[in-house]
Amino acid sequence: ARILQVSSKVNSTWYPASSFSSSVPTVKLFIDGKFVESKSDKWIDIHNPATNEVIGRVPQATKAEMDAAVASCKRAFPAWADTSVLSRQQVLLRYQQLIKENLKEIAKLITLEQGKTLADAEGDVFRGLQVVEHACSVTSLMLGETMPSITKDMDLYSYRLPLGVCAGIAPFNFPAMIPLWMFPMAMVCGNTFVLKPSERVPGASMLLAKLLQDSGAPDGTLNILHGQHEAVNFICDHPDIKAISFVGSNQAGEYIFERGSRHGKRVQANMGAKNHGVVMPDANKENTLNQLVGAAFGAAGQRCMALSTAILVGEAKKWLPELVERAKNLRVNAGDQPGADLGPLITPQAKERVCNLIDSGTKEGASILLDGRKIKVKGYENGNFVGPTIISNVKPTMTCYKEEIFGPVLVVLETDTLDEAIKIVNDNPYGNGTAIFTTNGATARKYSHLVDVGQVGVNVPIPVPLPMFSFTGSRSSFRGDTNFYGKQGIHFYTQLKTITSQWKEEDATLSSPAVVMPT
Ligand code: NAD
Repeated sequence: ARILQVSSKVNSTWYPASSFSSSVPTVKLFIDGKFVESKSDKWIDIHNPATNEVIGRVPQATKAEMDAAVASCKRAFPAWADTSVLSRQQVLLRYQQLIKENLKEIAKLITLEQGKTLADAEGDVFRGLQVVEHACSVTSLMLGETMPSITKDMDLYSYRLPLGVCAGIAPFNFPAMIPLWMFPMAMVCGNTFVLKPSERVPGASMLLAKLLQDSGAPDGTLNILHGQHEAVNFICDHPDIKAISFVGSNQAGEYIFERGSRHGKRVQANMGAKNHGVVMPDANKENTLNQLVGAAFGAAGQRCMALSTAILVGEAKKWLPELVERAKNLRVNAGDQPGADLGPLITPQAKERVCNLIDSGTKEGASILLDGRKIKVKGYENGNFVGPTIISNVKPTMTCYKEEIFGPVLVVLETDTLDEAIKIVNDNPYGNGTAIFTTNGATARKYSHLVDVGQVGVNVPIPVPLPMFSFTGSRSSFRGDTNFYGKQGIHFYTQLKTITSQWKEEDATLSSPAVVMPT
């Protein structure tokens, strides 16, 4: 079958399995605890990227529907914020269990709409699940601070309190993980949440919402609206929304950061990347080449932490032919096909953009060592496939170096020294992730300390921190001052209230007004 069949658990209100092959199903809104059909007259087609068949339609929610979503969150907030932290934790504990039980079903929806391989889609869910598990530590994470006896009979303490209604705007490339970076952290702190999933991949969010409801989250604590620019503007402008979490491109992220901040909201925006892997000649060759190929081409390069640029230092330049051989052996196929290493790109436009960037390399003097532009995948001739591509002799001035390609393309630069490599990485505007491959501890330490990038791997190609830490991309890869998940995530979704309290013995009562600033 060309189209994945999902189980009856998913055969709910948004993607009835029976209609996959006949009529086109519609994705519902999730408002006030109900999956409701939008009254919109504007709908966006959802395609299976492996076939380009239309598999569903997602509405651009009407103003009234978006208002209803925020009003529902606002109504639900006081009671949810007042629900004991232990009860909120219980909801999340049940939630993590339900996500585990439904992991494969969520993954199937991801492969269907996004195109990545099923194994990779399971990883997408799993990495989001880890954030939910971490959110269950709320009873430690949300602790305030105390300082007793700051003066006679006086104590000082702080609470971390929820903000109110928070919102999330998500990208297409991690349909489960990225929404799970957002609403579980916000909600466990006592906030309510409006989520706008990527209009290209709404299915996983809908199933995650159903599972959250089944875990006991009260109606209105999570609302989901769909749409594009109008929905984004609505979120940025709405006075009842206190904070926005955004993950996606720089173009959208900068805009949302500015517009949301202008309306007095907290905004955290994780954005684009150009991640460099620096290969030292003393590295373990076998391990390094495998790591590099996996991290450059996995998920067809559609990861913000894809290792899309290699810098081969000194003698490591000689490894290029072997790198090409390994990349050649990767199997490109529809994500649900056994043995597939990488699936299609998200849209025909994405494929065209990636191919144009490869073309630009040729025009600007680089060499194409491996060319995936003309690949044909048997049985999936209409899919948005690009095979692994390696461009060498790349200079930092070239378009294929400067742009985030977001496809299965590795650009390769060469330097004679580590210092030159560090300069290239630090001159690049992005600061999402980087990796060094070496067997020398001093080299690794020097690189980690001098490189101006927020997430560094030492012999680890995709150094995405686990949720007890935070996702700490920097420079042009991030706007805001508090990162996603970990302690920083809790800080983003809470505000401090500090209480100074004095309890005197009765006979110590002030005998006259204290008019001087207390010292
Ligand atoms: P995108 O910016 O096109 O879309 C993200 C969200 O913003 C979607 O919900 C979309 O509806 C909305 N949007 C898109 N264009 C908009 C605009 N002009 N104005 C207002 N809203 C807009 O991003 P994408 O293509 O879905 O995702 C890929 C990008 O996301 C890449 O640049 C990738 O590096 C980045 N990304 C970053 C991280 C990170 O943590 N740093 C993680 C994943 C993806």
